[in-house]
Amino acid sequence: MTDGNGFLNALRDIVGETHVLTTPADTEPYYVDWVGRTRGTALCVCLPASTQEVSAVVALCARDAVPVFPQGGNTSSCGGSVPLEEGRGILLSLRRMNRILSVEPENDAIVAEAGAILVEVKAAAEAADRLFPLSLSSEGSCAIGGNVSTNAGGTAALRYGTMRDLVLGLEVVLADGRIWDGLRILRKDNTGYDMKAMFVGSEGTLGIVTRVALKLFPLPRHRATAFVAVDTVAGAATLLGRCKAEFGPLLDAFELFSGSQLDIVCRHVEGNRRPIDSDHPWYVLMELQTRDGAKELSSRLEALIGEALEDGSAADAALAQSHAQAEALWRLRHSVSEANRRHGLNFTHDVAVPIGRIADFMQEADAAMASDFPEAEIFSVSHMGDGNVHYTAIFRPGAVKASGADARDLGARVTRKVHDIAVGLGGTFGAEHGIGQRYRASLQRYKSEVELDLFRAMKRALDPQGILNPGKVL
Ligand code: FAD
Repeated sequence: MTDGNGFLNALRDIVGETHVLTTPADTEPYYVDWVGRTRGTALCVCLPASTQEVSAVVALCARDAVPVFPQGGNTSSCGGSVPLEEGRGILLSLRRMNRILSVEPENDAIVAEAGAILVEVKAAAEAADRLFPLSLSSEGSCAIGGNVSTNAGGTAALRYGTMRDLVLGLEVVLADGRIWDGLRILRKDNTGYDMKAMFVGSEGTLGIVTRVALKLFPLPRHRATAFVAVDTVAGAATLLGRCKAEFGPLLDAFELFSGSQLDIVCRHVEGNRRPIDSDHPWYVLMELQTRDGAKELSSRLEALIGEALEDGSAADAALAQSHAQAEALWRLRHSVSEANRRHGLNFTHDVAVPIGRIADFMQEADAAMASDFPEAEIFSVSHMGDGNVHYTAIFRPGAVKASGADARDLGARVTRKVHDIAVGLGGTFGAEHGIGQRYRASLQRYKSEVELDLFRAMKRALDPQGILNPGKVL
């Protein structure tokens, strides 16, 4: 590497003096993740304004073998978005590249820069009477390039798939600074390897995403939302099966809460209220969406829930009677991360198992936690419609000290147990958040040598110097 000042001055020449941040007050928000647990440092935060500037910055870093840590909205749930502790490298923030470039209703496509905030991409689509369906609780902060790089999932993946299913094309700056223009809006393109697929979910380790072309869908005008209490996870799975058979693609979301999760969401986040007064071990938040036939949709949902209450597969239910009531139900779901953060030292997992085995997963994981970590309180919320379970063990203040364990070591032991159980049931240890720094050990533990070899070969081919997001994924 050349001398630090020479390098920083060269960066300033590319992006402008004020877009290279070095003072701690300016850089701090970029160096710590949103939970405040993973922290790193870098030589600077660099904020380019165009693909050409990203390209020049990365070429400079390649020349001097300086690591590049790309960042979008910094909402990563696995320590993926912050630099490492050692302080080498630059943090490359896409924040200034936040423009919506075009909305094309006739092609059902939208094109945006990587730093565009998800909620703004959705609003631009809506203004053209179209839907961009990715829905995450973090959508007011996360950026579309980060969504691509993590292959984000969220609550509507049941109906529309994950980000991988929603990307039409990408523009990517490669590790040597060259620009790959794959920003196509085609539905069919069988001209060789699917390069865009390789970058989706690669967490900034293979290239820097600079522009994104996405699929749009008809904008639903009506929704029917319900909150249903069930006594068992198996009962929730039965209800899900019925909803899928009855409503097919109109079923937009099917989210399962443990009773304990609902309790702390109402206790820690102001304004939340229990939609059902009686206590139950599990609750489902479900939503149907349609463009036409609002009345019919609500009465069909009411009828299905009525049958479930009658035959005992549902224990109680509340149907939203207005937009405001539906929003209040969704607020419960969107408050989960905040409630967990406030409750104590939390270790959240992002596993997936086949839907029919979610009940086994819960039973085995709860038993393992009770025997090995009796101080832990257990909470869960699941995107049940696609088998994705966020299983969380929380240690209240004092519990970690009392157990005599170091927090990092404790987290590693809890995680290993949870991941072993999910993988043992034919599932995965990472469904939608990615690997980041936090789950690298699990990647090594559960992936076969053959798959790891393929990963390393891809990394070597695209980033031979290993400058793109080192310490993440591999
Ligand atoms: P960042 O956090 O900044 O980065 C994430 C990763 O992508 C990092 O490895 C980073 O280096 C890389 N990266 C970012 N931008 C680029 C780029 N332009 N080019 C190359 N690499 C890049 N996730 C879900 O999937 N489903 C959920 O339901 C969900 N709910 C959440 C709720 C809350 C409250 C929070 C805080 C997070 C949630 N997440 C969820 C996780 C997170 O929001 C997603 O992973 C999101 O896609 C990250 O986007 P970001 O812009 O914040 O990326």
